[in-house]
Amino acid sequence: MTLRQRAYAAPVLTASADAERVERLLGCPFDPAGGMSLVAALQADETETEPAAGYRAAWAAGLHEYLVPVAEGGRLASFESLLGVLRAMSRRDLAVAVGLGSTFLAATPVWIWGTPEQRQRVAELVLDRRWGTAGISEDAAGSDLLATATRATATADGWTLSGRKWLVGNGARSGFATVLAAAEPSFGLFLLDFDRVGTDGVRRLPKVRTLGLRGHDLSGFELDGYRIPSSARLGRPGRGVEMVSGMLQFTRTLVGGMSLGAADTALRIALRHARERRLYGGTALDLPPVRSLLARGFADLLAAECTQLTAARGLDVARQRMPLWSAVAKYLVPALCQDTVTAAGEVLSARAYLREGVAGGAFQKIARDAAITPVFEGTQLVQLETVHAQLASGARRPGTAPELPAQLLFAFGDPVGPWRPADPRPSLSYGGTDEVVGRLAEAVALLAAEDRELGRLAAQLLVVRETDRALLPPRRTPEAYEWARRHCLLHAAACCLHTWTRRRAALGPLGSDPAWLSVALRRLLERLGRPTAPDHAAEHRLVRLLTELDDDDRAFSLLPVRLAAQYRAGS
Ligand SMILES: Cc1cc2nc3c(=O)[nH]c(=O)nc-3n(C[C@H](O)[C@H](O)[C@H](O)COP(=O)(O)OP(=O)(O)OC[C@H]3O[C@@H](n4cnc5c(N)ncnc54)[C@H](O)[C@@H]3O)c2cc1C
Repeated sequence: MTLRQRAYAAPVLTASADAERVERLLGCPFDPAGGMSLVAALQADETETEPAAGYRAAWAAGLHEYLVPVAEGGRLASFESLLGVLRAMSRRDLAVAVGLGSTFLAATPVWIWGTPEQRQRVAELVLDRRWGTAGISEDAAGSDLLATATRATATADGWTLSGRKWLVGNGARSGFATVLAAAEPSFGLFLLDFDRVGTDGVRRLPKVRTLGLRGHDLSGFELDGYRIPSSARLGRPGRGVEMVSGMLQFTRTLVGGMSLGAADTALRIALRHARERRLYGGTALDLPPVRSLLARGFADLLAAECTQLTAARGLDVARQRMPLWSAVAKYLVPALCQDTVTAAGEVLSARAYLREGVAGGAFQKIARDAAITPVFEGTQLVQLETVHAQLASGARRPGTAPELPAQLLFAFGDPVGPWRPADPRPSLSYGGTDEVVGRLAEAVALLAAEDRELGRLAAQLLVVRETDRALLPPRRTPEAYEWARRHCLLHAAACCLHTWTRRRAALGPLGSDPAWLSVALRRLLERLGRPTAPDHAAEHRLVRLLTELDDDDRAFSLLPVRLAAQYRAGS
């Protein structure tokens, strides 16, 4: 039975409803006449100009409304929903997704720490389609926030700000910005309302030329005695760096949504090419190694998705775990999706290198655009350092936080209460309890009871966990980063197992087929230095499922998400 025949079994999950709505409104990315088409995105990329058609389609579909919490008049009801919307956007044009994502980065601290007046004002600006800039980075202060040189000096009725924010999104066009600046008693975070206060003392910097995201406004601004009122400070005095760490738990979690969207389109282009490309009297897809590339790329995407869903749902129902889970997801999801894009490129072969031809030459743009996802919002090494620091604090005070119920954590797609940004506010430590890796043994036992071979495979993860538990390499040693990397892989494997054991029944035909789990686990074990024999039968089956998803206009996802009706040249 094909997926199409079994489609009745695939429900629309609550959290996917927004994604399906956006898919319908944006139309198929492969349709040159669509609102946010790959072709239009490529044209803007070639000329290094703003993707104006993409923005128009985004505004018309109300994508900016998803950046504003429901309580402030927008559509942001849950992070799982926002993740689905972001994936839909990123299947089409990462330059558009990053432009809106930068606005969300700027607005997030306002949603969390802003006064009612500040929240109302920023909601008004975002709903009015104004861009926002998160002004954290400076030329000499990238990962090292304490090197921030922009300074806020107190005056009788507010502050004056001086300094240079550079390599920041929407820097040349923003209507508002949230800026990290040195102040007394320590760093502060300030809301700059350019539209209302004016731009005397602000000099916009030119757009920086980049490898990918060439339509995105990556630039900056210089502040020279820029005066802001006392009502412009966000949160409590001296808490700027803590607030940035807290807001990044939200935004770095969502970067994975961009990677997943880009990987979906990259894999789709490769699959379609392999089905049509004639070689040796058959198709490229008939060649077993090509099938393996596609199956493994797809399995990497699904492992990334399980990790990402856990993190996005964590923002909704387990915010106290996010100091750890957000760093794990930011490290791993973009990295796994990059492997998917690489596999897709290998299938496309020379066509991956062309700026014309297959899908109009869209693949090379996706590869260039997606290459930055592991870097911005904190590099991979920065995430690994965070993971190490969190686990070290957890080792000092293990299990101090009560466990959260598994049926709540892994109920992907089920409704959650409306998002309350400040309840609870982000914490600095995850509390020493980790339901994902902590419940690995339980998940392995459940799996072994139903599938002995897969259970044996998964049991290797327990060996890795116990071996690594005995170690805690000192901070900033090469061993510490490697140890943290292994934890991220274990976490991803545990997310796959929890998805399988606890949620597959609700996910539809792909989710309940063991082929994806078999290939995904093998891929993760290989990265953990425990290679296993490939499961060719599962790979073969996974490619068939992938093909059926494409034919049935479905996202490459464990979630049964219906896409806009797919445009196929000549159809
Ligand atoms: C497209 C794009 C959009 C961006 N948007 C924004 C934005 O909207 N707002 C904003 O404020 N910034 C933005 N940035 C800046 C971005 O967040 C920074 O570039 C990024 O955080 C890394 O800083 P850096 O490049 O200065 O690297 P550096 O900090 O100079 O790092 C150099 C090297 O040191 C390593 N390193 C750093 N710290 C550690 C550590 N603790 N342990 C081990 N290794 C470490 C890094 O991994 C890297 O290999 C954007 C950048 C790009 C390219």
